[in-house]
Amino acid sequence: MLSVHSINVAYGDAQALWDVTFHVGENEICSIIGANGAGKTTTLSTILGMIRPLSGEIHFLGSRIDGKHPHTIVDLGISLVPEGRRLFSKLTVLENLELGAFTKKARPQIEKTLAWVMEIFPILKERKNQLAGSLSGGMQQMLAIGRGLMAKPKLLMLDEPSLGLAPLVVKMLFEVIQKLNDHHVTLLLVEQNIHQALKISHLAFVMKTGKIVLAGKGSDLMVDKEIKKAYMGILE
Ligand code: ATP
Repeated sequence: MLSVHSINVAYGDAQALWDVTFHVGENEICSIIGANGAGKTTTLSTILGMIRPLSGEIHFLGSRIDGKHPHTIVDLGISLVPEGRRLFSKLTVLENLELGAFTKKARPQIEKTLAWVMEIFPILKERKNQLAGSLSGGMQQMLAIGRGLMAKPKLLMLDEPSLGLAPLVVKMLFEVIQKLNDHHVTLLLVEQNIHQALKISHLAFVMKTGKIVLAGKGSDLMVDKEIKKAYMGILE
């Protein structure tokens, strides 16, 4: 579904990604893991067209998308739920959701998509008139994911969805991610909660200083001695 081939990205003189290559298959959950500053967010931003790679190619559902505008890429079926959620705190839950259906393709289907999102997140229906800023952190993350789904993506990218959430809420969040996958949404997840991410991922890619240093099945990486030594202790 998504094929990232040998992309190189720099911020001015500082190269942030080096020959990054990976693939995400339809209906998979894939994770990119790694420490702070490894290049995970840069990878997602490049896929969405917010950053233009110096070289390399990105293909999505058979179309080449690197160099295209973000709104074109969203219209093709990729959505990003950014780190920090970026909700409109003074708007209601419903208004935030409606803003997610801004693309040409999504707008005509807004009522139908809204019903689908509220079926996945019944709590958002209950709280639809509440201001986003008054929700708990976990609920805000659900809303941010719901808003991402309003663009009807085929591929949903989540940047650090569990950041700052209590362990029980994180558990719920990963159940929701699994549920989305059951609804045929393909997921590309950036996470520092490596244990949870690997547990639900078909494939995972480990990034270090702008490079993919390891790739494999989530279940294999979970028991990988090097991964355990390098990341689990620090990041859990
Ligand atoms: P984090 O979890 O901290 O967000 P990350 O793995 O997502 O880490 P990136 O945010 O992609 O990493 O950063 C990769 C590298 O690019 C880092 O060295 C970072 O300092 C640098 N970088 C990121 N954004 C910018 C920017 N806007 N301008 C300059 N350098 C940047």
